[in-house]
Amino acid sequence: MLALAKLARLSELSMKSSIFFSRIAVLCVCSSLLLAQAAPETHGIVIGYIDRSVKPGDNFYQYANGAWLKQTEMPADRVEVSVATPIEDLANKRTADLIQEIAKSNPPAGSALRKVADLYNSYIDEAGIEARGPSPLRPHLDAVAAIHDKKELARALGATLRADVDALNNTNYHTPNLFGLWVAPGFRDSDHYTPYLMQGGLVLPDREYYLSDSEHMKSLRAQYQTYISTLLKLAGFTDTDARATRILELEHAIAQTHRALAENEDIHKADNTWKRADFAAKAPGLDWDAYFRAAGLDHVASFTVWQPEAFTGESALVASTPLETWQDWLSFHIIASHAGVLPKAFAEENFAFFGKAMLGQQQQRPRWQRGVFVVDGLLGDVVGERYAQRYFPPESKAQVQAMVANLIAAFRKRIEGLPWMDPSTKAEAEAKLSTLYVGVGYPETWHDYSNFEVKADDIFGNLWRGGLADYQRQVARLGKPVDRKEWSMTPQTVNAVNLPLQNALNFPAAILQAPFFDPQASAAFNYGAIGAVIGHEISHTFDSEGSAFDSKGRVRNWWTPEDLKHFEAATAQLAAQYDAYKPFPDLSLNGKQTLAENIADVAGLCASYDGYKASLVGKPAPEQDGLNGDQQFFLGFAQSWATKLRDAALREEVMTDSHSPAEYRALTVRNLDPWYTAFDAQPGEKLYLAPNERVRIW
Ligand SMILES: [Zn+2]
Repeated sequence: MLALAKLARLSELSMKSSIFFSRIAVLCVCSSLLLAQAAPETHGIVIGYIDRSVKPGDNFYQYANGAWLKQTEMPADRVEVSVATPIEDLANKRTADLIQEIAKSNPPAGSALRKVADLYNSYIDEAGIEARGPSPLRPHLDAVAAIHDKKELARALGATLRADVDALNNTNYHTPNLFGLWVAPGFRDSDHYTPYLMQGGLVLPDREYYLSDSEHMKSLRAQYQTYISTLLKLAGFTDTDARATRILELEHAIAQTHRALAENEDIHKADNTWKRADFAAKAPGLDWDAYFRAAGLDHVASFTVWQPEAFTGESALVASTPLETWQDWLSFHIIASHAGVLPKAFAEENFAFFGKAMLGQQQQRPRWQRGVFVVDGLLGDVVGERYAQRYFPPESKAQVQAMVANLIAAFRKRIEGLPWMDPSTKAEAEAKLSTLYVGVGYPETWHDYSNFEVKADDIFGNLWRGGLADYQRQVARLGKPVDRKEWSMTPQTVNAVNLPLQNALNFPAAILQAPFFDPQASAAFNYGAIGAVIGHEISHTFDSEGSAFDSKGRVRNWWTPEDLKHFEAATAQLAAQYDAYKPFPDLSLNGKQTLAENIADVAGLCASYDGYKASLVGKPAPEQDGLNGDQQFFLGFAQSWATKLRDAALREEVMTDSHSPAEYRALTVRNLDPWYTAFDAQPGEKLYLAPNERVRIW
């Protein structure tokens, strides 16, 4: 939940990038990496992005970025382009260069470096992929065809369980497998790794894609059905239209059992402990013994079941749906999950549906870039260790650590000053702040990939084995002591994250560079841009989810009833504010689904503003191009959100993301009194909120 923005899904390789903060002086943001590197040296607010024909009080996002929006073209191979895109491209290019260097150095067989080289080369070897045809699928499809009864089906379903979901760190509630496993510190025992099981079984991103009545969704479902049929045909199946109809019907039935995203984010609804025997009693249908044995979880006595009703519903569907339909479903899921690394005929269908139809992307990203994403996904730390050594100077680390300390101090002061909060609640909030682990740049230890076998001529097998090796690593951790300093992002990731069960933050190296963090720009700008990122992540500690955890990362109610009431009233007001934003006539934002992120935006910006003021130590802020300090602070913030998104991708984001779209995140400023003064926002203007309507939480 708590990442700065959603990460791209590896399985589809359609690469909707996850973009967030910062500005850059490249007006025509195209996918050329050279442009990013050749960016002219400007520091601070980019005056050329501003559209002075718009009143700040009517639409601050348009005011800050209108000219950028007009000047920026969407590259054909993107669904989203933002001021941060060149930085992401740069991190991507640097990673690719590191991979090339590693490959050239001819590392010894079996070493982690050799795995990087072989994995990357196996991905870009299109001739080899073409020559092998659909043969890599064969043994897997044969195994599915050989299933005779529901017990064997349960075994096959158990064998597909992967550690591919993540409820609270990088926030991914989606797996195409029947269920997903997340291994993380326990809700009650945050000192040990615990298994969380989550709903799954859908290829499309969320239940809404199956259940929504909108014309857009109906049309997408029709295209999806054709896609299922086409993929099955390419893999040698007959009667594929009928099979596709049945597969879609089954997924529709699964979707009806699923919990919606906004509800998934409610920790208290997720806090369900099921002992092994509970599964057969509470979710009859699936042969759970066979399932857990095949999943290698025989020895595990109890699980946290995130969405009990989905486990009951999906298990019942295993019993009530004919075996043949489940076999088709399994076969299609195997093909779809690997379509990107099968011959062109498969890969092109995959892109036509997931890239073009679903997100509006016109052209695929170059293969080398997708190869980098694959290496990042499966061997990210091997490259990350070298990335951090080369691209993250110790001075940057020290400077950012000082800024983090400033922001934490600002936050502490705000908590101390809250008039409504009981001293006992304040004491626990301060304990959370003082025990927070803040990782800057790169982790202190690196992941070990020794159980992952990589072959230079087998990308299909590499993806399969990579997912399985990761799963086995996660299962092996169950019951072991938690490493609170473990990272959940690689250094080459342009993002940031709060890990609530570890009470920890990660700020990867790739986000801590110009223009996110520019030592040559004014404090006002830096606090508006990277300061708000840091404040956002610190604030997750106290958002609607983070506040459910105590200073040790345990789920515990540390609030007095009155304080909780006050907090809930303020956050309900914020949810209503976001419910009112309407990107499409038939689609509004969901204030509850995005609540935790919106709280973090408001609280983070407030803390960052305080940090900025404190950094001036009473001196007046230097002007830039006639802009005073406060104006630079708020413009720095709003310009860091300049983003263009294709309509289809925006719809996907509104429905499946716990973050509000960038444009609305920029409007966080409405809740801060100093913004009104800085831009003379007046009653009657569209963004104007009366002082009692401005949401003040922390
Ligand atoms: Zn966040």
